[in-house]
Amino acid sequence: MRYENSAEIFEKAKKVIPGGVNSPVRAFGSVNKSYPIFAKKAKGSKIWCEDDNEYIDYICSWGPMILGHNNERVMAGVREAIEDGSSFGLPTKMEVELAELVIKCYPSIEKIRLTTSGTEATMAAVRLARAYTKKNKILKFEGCYHGHSDSLMVKAGSGLLTDGYQDSNGITQGTIKDTLTLPFGRMDLVKELFEKDDDIACIIMEPVPANMGIIETDAEFLKGVRELCTAKNSVLIFDEVISGFRLALGGAQELFGVTPDLTTLGKIIGGGYPVGAFGGKNELMDMIAPVGDVYHAGTLSGNPVSVRAGYETISELLENKDTLYKELKEKVNYITSNIEKISEKHNVPVCINKQGSLFTIFFTDKDEIKTLDDVIETDTEKYAKYFNVMLDSGVVTPPSKYEAHFVSAAHTKDDMDKTLEIMDKAFEEISKM
Ligand code: PMP
Repeated sequence: MRYENSAEIFEKAKKVIPGGVNSPVRAFGSVNKSYPIFAKKAKGSKIWCEDDNEYIDYICSWGPMILGHNNERVMAGVREAIEDGSSFGLPTKMEVELAELVIKCYPSIEKIRLTTSGTEATMAAVRLARAYTKKNKILKFEGCYHGHSDSLMVKAGSGLLTDGYQDSNGITQGTIKDTLTLPFGRMDLVKELFEKDDDIACIIMEPVPANMGIIETDAEFLKGVRELCTAKNSVLIFDEVISGFRLALGGAQELFGVTPDLTTLGKIIGGGYPVGAFGGKNELMDMIAPVGDVYHAGTLSGNPVSVRAGYETISELLENKDTLYKELKEKVNYITSNIEKISEKHNVPVCINKQGSLFTIFFTDKDEIKTLDDVIETDTEKYAKYFNVMLDSGVVTPPSKYEAHFVSAAHTKDDMDKTLEIMDKAFEEISKM
């Protein structure tokens, strides 16, 4: 593989953009690469970089590209929308159609508000929960990532973990004090906390954590937090920015049959363009301005091009839901069952966590990885070796064990077989470490 062009662009980038990237995980720092690959174009399951190397892509823009890159239907819709103008500062009919479509997929949502990112969606949902309950504190789980607003940057996952810390600098002690955190899955500790503290406005959680690598959810835990929130007049927020439209059309809430009060969405809802959303029962949503006094706004919220991309993506998912989700799961089962064989062959033990079209490979002797502490203990050096061999051989995987591999509808059997061949090589290299 040649990397000269990416390396050269990165040198220029570092002079004008902090760390040369606009989102930290893109820097590939955790895998000790001295530069990231700069993407040039993508189609289906493939991505090409500025050196014209071709890669099979398991990042999929961190989630939005469930149909693969540059999907024909989505692009046709986008082209049509662009012809009519880029942004109006006035409402459009397509926003209503997207809202209706989302509500059809999520029975827990009666009204929905569009944002420009997942971060804005979770930030607004937390504000709404505080207004509704008249309580101050929030509970989140260690290693879950809910975007980069102040109150949610405590014990967060994703890029922070990759860079070796969990709390961002620059947040007031007052804010930090109001964000309570507990290990994921520990219902006993959640109950204990609620016994001591009746000032908790909401529990915000990724129903299937995907930002400390994938953590396989225990359905009992979801049911437990649901019951507790109801009993204690606290709002349950499912952050389905990753899991929404991915684990099932109706997200983790459909898969596990547990109904949150508020849902946050992002990524797939914009089909690769900037969109987020939060929604729930009328009783809550009608507190949002201009109906109520909980403020939420955005110059580009509901941007017509993004909304059209999301509408086409979700329509395609809806029309194919009976086969598409099953096929995605089968693809992950095919890849992961073969990784297990490769792991045995080279005597490199792994624990693979998976859910639907998401999976993470943890290099560890342990049979189960259930909490952030478990994840932290898994082998980072081996993961870095895995990433580097894969990249050098034409497969781009997440650069950190704290992220998920994303499989799309565009990944073919041929892609998966090529990937497995290269994985075999990567595991052989790891066995020599
Ligand atoms: N919530 C979750 C579960 C996420 O994974 C992310 C982003 N990875 C966000 C919120 C924030 O979304 P965005 O990056 O669009 O602000």
